[in-house]
Amino acid sequence: NSSRQDKDREVNVQVILRCRPLIDEELRLNTPKLISCNEQRREVTVLQSIANKQIDRSFAFDKVFGPKAQQRSIYDHAISPIVNEVLEGFNCTIFAYGQTGTGKTYTMEGETKSKGGDLSADAGVIPRAVRQIFDTLEAQKADYSMKVTFLELYNEEITDLLAHEEHNKSVEDKQKKPISLMEDGKGAVFVRGLEEEIVYSASEIYNLLEQGSARRRSADTLLNKHSSRSHSVFSITIHVKEATVGDEELIKCGKLNLVDLAGSENISRSGAREVRAREAGEINKSLLTLGRVINALVEHSAHVPYRDSKLTRLLRDSLGGKTKTCIIATISPSAHCLEETLSTLDYAYRAK
Ligand code: ADP
Ligand code: MG
Repeated sequence: NSSRQDKDREVNVQVILRCRPLIDEELRLNTPKLISCNEQRREVTVLQSIANKQIDRSFAFDKVFGPKAQQRSIYDHAISPIVNEVLEGFNCTIFAYGQTGTGKTYTMEGETKSKGGDLSADAGVIPRAVRQIFDTLEAQKADYSMKVTFLELYNEEITDLLAHEEHNKSVEDKQKKPISLMEDGKGAVFVRGLEEEIVYSASEIYNLLEQGSARRRSADTLLNKHSSRSHSVFSITIHVKEATVGDEELIKCGKLNLVDLAGSENISRSGAREVRAREAGEINKSLLTLGRVINALVEHSAHVPYRDSKLTRLLRDSLGGKTKTCIIATISPSAHCLEETLSTLDYAYRAK
């Protein structure tokens, strides 16, 4: 029954496409644009001419945001309803997927510093979600508690981006401390040794976010292309007291995962050298498995291959079932990115 299925799809997995503007250097070099976005029709068209023939290909998504779309507009139209679900006690995950340089980190984090509590116009999904969560809970005068974790997955190894500084260790040691993924008898997954910060205010979370992002950036300078090969996962867990029945408290629990994925170019191109090929292979595993997991969920398959990668094991309780998933696929309008853009559009379209 296709209308029923359409409804399920609409509810559970949403795919949003965002095309960034040409950046300064591309403008200076007069880079031709090949992408046209129709936000009303929710369609992206790739303008291609092959052997002098104009061959346009269009892809439809749940929502499309063109180069002029502001951070705020994307948040209000696509993300805010998902955050409301989290506040209602659901687990939700938002992914940024795309080639390196297309705006994944800009979309998820953007400007994370706030001036006197006011968000910058460039603030991305994470700081805006934090703001919405605190504003809503405070308006409801809710009795709540909240904790956040921020980790990075590189080469199928987890690093805690919030681990407390150990001053006697070198930067390299700190960055290399691996953390393990454990499973209890019932199949629930938890991360052993991961710092869970209890937070009481939005500004506290902004500081943690800034601190974790700075660590990612410093890892980038130590290891070339680190951030393009690593996934980062920022999670907020909220417990809200709903009522007291007798001497029992009814608690509503929701979790929001915000995931900045490794560059999707690693899926199709593996480096020539052994180490790089291995790295690309590992990243491949989490990105490819994520694609398979989402396909299986969308198609209501009996088997969902969560166990095949760390990323999908880690997010298992927030993917499928009663959870909501949103993929923000990011692309560049530049002609030089054509091959990768088509591969992102295909991946994202299959997730729909
Ligand atoms: P990624 O994380 O996918 O590698 P970034 O988020 O680092 O990409 O973006 C690459 C560059 O493009 C950055 O300089 C970023 O500020 C800029 N950029 C990305 N998206 C936009 C956008 N929608 N508007 C303006 N600048 C953008
Ligand atoms: Mg990035």
